[in-house]
Amino acid sequence: MNKQLQYDLNNTRQLLTQALEEGLSYLQNINAAPTSAAKATTDFAPLPTDGAGGSDALSEFRKRFKDLMVASAGPRYWGFVTGGTTPAAIMGDMLATIFDQNTQTVKGHGDLSGIIEFETIDMLKELFSLPDDFLGGFVTGATMSNFTCLGVARQWVGKQKGVDIAKKGVPSIFPILSAVPHSSSIKALSMLGLGSSNIQIVKTIDPTREAIDIAALEEKIQLLNGEPFILISSGGTVNTVDYDDAQAIAGLKEKYNFWWHVDAAFGGFAAISPAYAHLLAGWGKADSITVDGHKWLNVPYESAFFFVKEKHKLLQVETYQNSNAPYLGDPLENFSFLNFLPENSRRFKALPAWFTLKAYGKEGYREIVERNISQAMQLGEFISQSDYFELLAPVRLNTVCFTLKNSDSIAVQTFLDRINDSGKVFMTPTFFNGRKGIRAALVNWRTTEEDVKIVQKEMMKAVS
Ligand SMILES: *Cc1c(COP(=O)(O)O)cnc(C)c1O
Repeated sequence: MNKQLQYDLNNTRQLLTQALEEGLSYLQNINAAPTSAAKATTDFAPLPTDGAGGSDALSEFRKRFKDLMVASAGPRYWGFVTGGTTPAAIMGDMLATIFDQNTQTVKGHGDLSGIIEFETIDMLKELFSLPDDFLGGFVTGATMSNFTCLGVARQWVGKQKGVDIAKKGVPSIFPILSAVPHSSSIKALSMLGLGSSNIQIVKTIDPTREAIDIAALEEKIQLLNGEPFILISSGGTVNTVDYDDAQAIAGLKEKYNFWWHVDAAFGGFAAISPAYAHLLAGWGKADSITVDGHKWLNVPYESAFFFVKEKHKLLQVETYQNSNAPYLGDPLENFSFLNFLPENSRRFKALPAWFTLKAYGKEGYREIVERNISQAMQLGEFISQSDYFELLAPVRLNTVCFTLKNSDSIAVQTFLDRINDSGKVFMTPTFFNGRKGIRAALVNWRTTEEDVKIVQKEMMKAVS
């Protein structure tokens, strides 16, 4: 064995303790740590011929890169939709690394960590009050979950037309309807060979809303004359957290032949709160659902889940089976995750989710979700009473979409740069209803009312 490697093997405990201490010092300071990075280095160091061991690697990391680590897991990182990591999720994630299972199977010999993934998916269905007839699994993010679900949808449309698309390829374009699809669904359509420009946009209820106009949707469906299609609906849009009416769509599904996909990457968490669960009423009848883990579940990147109705199992296997490997056996007989989703070898991604679900339970998550929502409302209240700011949409859940009063796009960007430069809070730009705006999305378990006040103060500093 390489001498340095042998040395590190002998000192594994000290090395892991050092790394843990490094991480703990980040966590201890996370409330005060900047939400924007210092200047990045562009002097890249070469690959060493002889390595210096883990301890020296840590020293070099600390010296060159540590200051670039922003408090993205902290309480005031409100850009995009960025979750943090609960203590138990970190425990599970560390152990997932150490155990390094290649999570696949649920019976037989060898690695059986898939059983824990099954149990985790069951807990998630319970958390979201989803019916039991979904088959679920972990992928790296909502983008990949949308891809996974829409891949099965593609196979379904093919079957309706008598074509096995997984084998023969996409024969012709077919209709895909949506009102406000997330950019990642459009990306998934391009990856799936369905053509990102083949989405037929259905209008929303009115220009200030992002929820689909059900009557307009039904008109479009009737124009299709019975042709099978895919509907991508929103379970929480990123700008204004608007929801397509799932109950109404479930009704349409009884009349027309289509695949119904719901992108509920973070909005799915409304299901945990009795006060907001109505926003998703009916979503359990969808053919497939996307929910993110690394957002509101507060597990580390990369984590998301797909839920596809179990009755579509064969379509799912046809799409994702790793069929040229006879040693893997019959995919329907011998369950293995690699036949149900894009990845073959897989990280034990369920473990951090398993830990955090066990640690905090349904009540723990209800509290996080409701707290973040009330904080978003608190910020929304401040904005609507301000002389300087205005809301671009009412605060429906956990996201505040706002802009500067009587200002052009340049002024809005200047303001955003200022507050982001403060390092106290991070928000991201958007465009809504013809106006440049700013989004603050609250999905971090650490955030307190005090954090919202800190941000309000920074916002006032940045306009004065
Ligand atoms: C974040 C998000 C996605 C993409 O998720 P990733 O985890 O970044 O891949 C998709 N849809 C919605 C509604 C989202 O909020």
